[in-house]
Amino acid sequence: MAAETDIAPVIATRRDEAMGFFQRMVSKGLGWARKYSLFTYPFATACCGMEFMSVAASRYDIARFGAEFPRFSPRQADMLMVVGTINLKQAPILKRVYEQMCEPKWVVSFGVCASSGGFYDNYAVLQGIDRIIPVDVYIPGCPPRPEQVLDGLMLLQEKIGRQVHRVADKGEPNPTAAQHHLLASMNK
Ligand code: SF4
Repeated sequence: MAAETDIAPVIATRRDEAMGFFQRMVSKGLGWARKYSLFTYPFATACCGMEFMSVAASRYDIARFGAEFPRFSPRQADMLMVVGTINLKQAPILKRVYEQMCEPKWVVSFGVCASSGGFYDNYAVLQGIDRIIPVDVYIPGCPPRPEQVLDGLMLLQEKIGRQVHRVADKGEPNPTAAQHHLLASMNK
């Protein structure tokens, strides 16, 4: 039986906890910055586009929410706003645009056509963009009123604020061709 003196006391450090604390603070800071500096890629195809213009104009002034800069290059945007009907011929283009955006990125489905095909229940129209890309916020309405759009934007901002943000991706880099070869030979 071990004597009481043989038992080493467990030294509990709070290093891990402290790391977690700093990571959380950094994440919160990044989330705060990101949610108020959204760069929109407006993928506008139909009548909802008028409502998007209305939200961007001075009366509703989306600039109050830090999302006033439309970017027409997906590489410079982090919020894809799909505005209007998407037909099947456009679907691969929309998917390509989404894939060309850098992480982190978010998608807003603007109006019922983008969300579910709307009343275009036919062979030519995509029955919801979530069949090809992930969607963060759905805005209902045909077309949605500008207040609804701003409400959807605030929901997205809330979501961004709650997400975990990292300074850099710690993921392993993709293996090179030589590493692939080595891994394959080890698995034989
Ligand atoms: S939801 Fe209504 S307003 Fe918007 S694109 Fe479809 S039909 Fe047009």
